[in-house]
Amino acid sequence: MGFHLCSTCGRPVFDNCASFMVELPDGGGVAMVGPACADGSMLRVCQQLAADGAPPVDPALLTGLEQLRGALAG
Ligand SMILES: [Zn+2]
Repeated sequence: MGFHLCSTCGRPVFDNCASFMVELPDGGGVAMVGPACADGSMLRVCQQLAADGAPPVDPALLTGLEQLRGALAG
């Protein structure tokens, strides 16, 4: 079974699981992301974790998720 890594969070997205292609703004190319990132649930979890401060959230991950949300909203 194949998989690719989610462009945003780096977690594996297996081929039998829906993945989403998102065109990034500013010539960022096309991201292939997993369902949790595409539907915003990963962003909500990371924002909650960042608010709580534990465990620490990689700021780059939060930024990536917010950019993804912007790309999906646009
Ligand atoms: Zn992801």
